[in-house]
Amino acid sequence: MTKQTLSFQAEVAQLLHLVTHSLYSNKEIFLRELISNASDACDKLRFEAINNSGLYEDAPNLEVRVSFDKDAKTLTITDNGIGMSQQEAIDHLGTIAKSGTKDFVSKLSGDQKSDSQLIGQFGVGFYSGFIVADKITVESRRAGATAAEGVRWISGGAGDFEVETITRAQRGTSVILHLREDALDYTNAWKVKGIIAKYSDHISLPVLMEKEEWKDGELINPSDENGGRQPGAMVKTGEWEAANKGNAIWARAKKDITADEYNEFYKQISHDFEAPLAHTHNRVEGSTEYTQLLYIPGKAPMDLYNREKSAGVKLYVKRVFIMDDAEALLPTYLRFVKGVVDSADLPLNVSRELLQESRDVKAIREGCTKRVLGMLEDLAKNDKLPEASADGVTDVVSEEDKAMVGKYSKFYAEFGAVLKEGLGEDFANKDRLAKLLRFASSTTDTVSVSLADYKARMKEGQESIYYITADTLAAAKNSPQLEVFKKKGIEVLLMTDRVDEWALNYLHDFDDTPLQSVAKGAVDLGKLQDESEKKAAEEAAEAFKPLLAKLKEALKDKAEDVRVTTRLVDSPACLVVQDHGMSTQLARMLKQAGQ
Ligand code: ADP
Ligand code: MG
Repeated sequence: MTKQTLSFQAEVAQLLHLVTHSLYSNKEIFLRELISNASDACDKLRFEAINNSGLYEDAPNLEVRVSFDKDAKTLTITDNGIGMSQQEAIDHLGTIAKSGTKDFVSKLSGDQKSDSQLIGQFGVGFYSGFIVADKITVESRRAGATAAEGVRWISGGAGDFEVETITRAQRGTSVILHLREDALDYTNAWKVKGIIAKYSDHISLPVLMEKEEWKDGELINPSDENGGRQPGAMVKTGEWEAANKGNAIWARAKKDITADEYNEFYKQISHDFEAPLAHTHNRVEGSTEYTQLLYIPGKAPMDLYNREKSAGVKLYVKRVFIMDDAEALLPTYLRFVKGVVDSADLPLNVSRELLQESRDVKAIREGCTKRVLGMLEDLAKNDKLPEASADGVTDVVSEEDKAMVGKYSKFYAEFGAVLKEGLGEDFANKDRLAKLLRFASSTTDTVSVSLADYKARMKEGQESIYYITADTLAAAKNSPQLEVFKKKGIEVLLMTDRVDEWALNYLHDFDDTPLQSVAKGAVDLGKLQDESEKKAAEEAAEAFKPLLAKLKEALKDKAEDVRVTTRLVDSPACLVVQDHGMSTQLARMLKQAGQ
């Protein structure tokens, strides 16, 4: 192939512009991204080589090398992984294969802080090189291809890139960054080493850098030992050494891992800039053996509600990377969880299809689900500081407990709606999930009331947990259906998530108390209604019989029934649905969806 100039996909060009402008304060992440690509490439080679060991050629030791050239102002990341063919270089470095890119770009606001958050989540990957480089050269040759089938890809990060065929004996990829003037400190070995240690310690293959040692300058004037010497400098020794520890964090003992290391690993796998809310790290032994390191993020990704969207757990088998987004490892309603599962039992060539059927995977999935729910219960328990006891003495609260305060509320605001999907999806854990739910209510605007809190506050004689669903909190609070409850001082849960209606179909009671919508059928206040009220209602129903008959006739195509009610105090009339009818909320939702 002779030299060819091609245009970036429109979204890439847009993204590139944003990357260079809004990731400015987080420059150094480019190295994490490029090393992680190098590591991915080695993982891919190892994986393909399971069935084709010839791919190792004569270099079976997989490694990444990071080198720099102060004079040429370049920083180079080289791996001997799978490499890219010419077409792959064009496809992978010129377009964004991931879905939802347009969506993503349209969400960017121009505000640096929030944009860098979003970009981080999206994972700028390769393009982050342009934060520090005004030109990038990639040279690559795919494992198994001939030396003559190498490719060189060059771009200045604007609208287009060039590709041409080269001869490249070495398998794998070199990414050569031509550093911008303000990024020349990335030719400082000490600085680069520090960044590698920070972001890439867990990468299980060695990230090598050439050793340097100090060399005194030449003595020009031997009679003047101090003044007659040229300045000294660090010089390369030709010897390479690993800049990372090179062991997977999840395979290490918990007690040897610092909070910082846990956080850094999370940032690495999630592309999040912020620390996670919580993590759980366990080695599970028994009939199915595996290690799990799972995190709860502090912020929801923008595509959280897309159920098709990947799960966030990476699968390893005995430290060999197998796949990203292994959805079989956690139920869909826990898709916000990020982390790693490393199995000791699964075969290396396990496919997604096989995963769905594996008994080991089923055990892992149950185990991971339990752990995540356990983590959430822990956060929920410590969401508030214990209240002062009756004698005014507060328990001594540890710093650790204080740090937990507010985390569950934060979690719930971001992921509560997704958690509710679990009611319909995970029957085995329904009770645990129900305890984790939080709602606003007619007495509290914040989404903080648990079903247990509600039960503890129920009126003498109250037999149901009452709730109402609506589009907004204001609509719920001002609903005429609440009038009688307000008058009698009965708390009503206000539900405003779109998923509530659907989820509540699966939650008929909590701890033996039925849940009852105040907008369905005739509200039976049971023992809460006194005899005189009941009598008055019956009398009214009798007295208004002829009127009701007329109204029914007039509304016969529009209403199924017209009746006298006790649920109103000030409003003259309201709409309700039958006991087992579809709620107005759900009906509206379906109508919106065109059904
Ligand atoms: P991601 O890593 O999330 O897929 P990137 O933007 O980091 O996204 O990389 C885009 C693609 O370019 C990768 O999926 C891979 O196919 C290819 N690629 C990038 N770096 C390398 C490399 N060092 N070796 C082989 N392929 C690479
Ligand atoms: Mg990447």
